[in-house]
Amino acid sequence: MSIKLDEIKKREKGLKIINNKIQTEGINSLIDLTGLAGGFDVTPEDISLLETYAGPAVFDEKIQKLGIEHLGGEKVLPLNRTTSGIAAMIITYVKEGTKIVHYLPEKPGHPSIPRTAQLVGADYVEYTDINDFEITDNTSLVVITGTTMDHEVISEDDFRYVIEKAKEKDIMVFVDDASGARLRRAVYNQPTAIDLGADLSVTSTDKLMEGPRGGLMAGSKKLIDEIKLTVNQYGWEAQAPLVVGMIKGLKKYSPERIREAYVQKDKLIQKLIEEGLKPLPTPTGFMFKEDEIKNVIINKVGDMNVPSDIIATVYSMVLLENYNIVTIPAVGMPGASKTIRIDWSAKDSDKLTMEQMVTAITDTFDKTAHICQENKIEQELYN
Ligand SMILES: *Cc1c(COP(=O)(O)O)cnc(C)c1O
Repeated sequence: MSIKLDEIKKREKGLKIINNKIQTEGINSLIDLTGLAGGFDVTPEDISLLETYAGPAVFDEKIQKLGIEHLGGEKVLPLNRTTSGIAAMIITYVKEGTKIVHYLPEKPGHPSIPRTAQLVGADYVEYTDINDFEITDNTSLVVITGTTMDHEVISEDDFRYVIEKAKEKDIMVFVDDASGARLRRAVYNQPTAIDLGADLSVTSTDKLMEGPRGGLMAGSKKLIDEIKLTVNQYGWEAQAPLVVGMIKGLKKYSPERIREAYVQKDKLIQKLIEEGLKPLPTPTGFMFKEDEIKNVIINKVGDMNVPSDIIATVYSMVLLENYNIVTIPAVGMPGASKTIRIDWSAKDSDKLTMEQMVTAITDTFDKTAHICQENKIEQELYN
């Protein structure tokens, strides 16, 4: 029997575990190492402004200034999510029967891009090898992902090459810089997407910065106003409370913590290797992809007919239940990556030592193996 992952049910279970921990042990007991911990650091004064019409006016001026400093461009547009910005941009500029060409350091691209391509009836193609990259004549949009969901970072050379090819054909370039707007820049000293020549870029205000979940798009006044119209029509704009949180997150943001984790993670990875594991490095931590998680489990209990996305989700759930460590597979939106990624730049990493981290990882492999062996997978994921 091969089972299929129910993404809605597993997320409800993950959130239920979190809620129980908050009720019994308090919010500080959680250790969020997703790198998208978010933050909502608003003051009573901010809240009193929210109750008047003054709020949106005051906040818009601030978000414009901070957003442009962070992303470049002439104007920014605060959004409900990065996903809403991507959808609005494609709906605004991509006509039926044309093609979206996407260059990214590693597949897959964020699901919002192919989903909206399908919605407008456009073809969609992803390239991960710069030597294969091509822009055919019916292309209406070139997308670049600056840093993938698994934190794979594009090289500046590839970034510039794709932009140059798009400019030769006078095609709009949009950059999905959800975490790249910070990772690419802090760790690799790359310029903003706009400074590299992109027409538009979007970032997630909760990724590697202490802001709420939301999106912020930057570009020229003309383009941003065109997208803003679509965004308003579909109801995808960020409301004032979200914008206040973004302002606080941007003010607090410092690339220092990211750079520190970039150096420290090597030590952490070494310790895991000493335990016989094969973690992959990320710019600010390490990860186990779903196939590798399955490999480790198979080595412990023998081959099994269970898909790797399920095993990785079980792992994430067990890590949350036993060690209070939050990773994406247990709580992410449907379609989110099933990679177990630990972001050592997350502020909650201060709550545990490297040794404790290593113990949590190795013990969770043992516990996950046990659950698979005992056929308790569905119980673990959904009940
Ligand atoms: C997180 C992410 C998104 C989507 O952000 P949401 O705020 O969840 O809508 C899009 N693209 C990439 C590369 C991401 O990492």
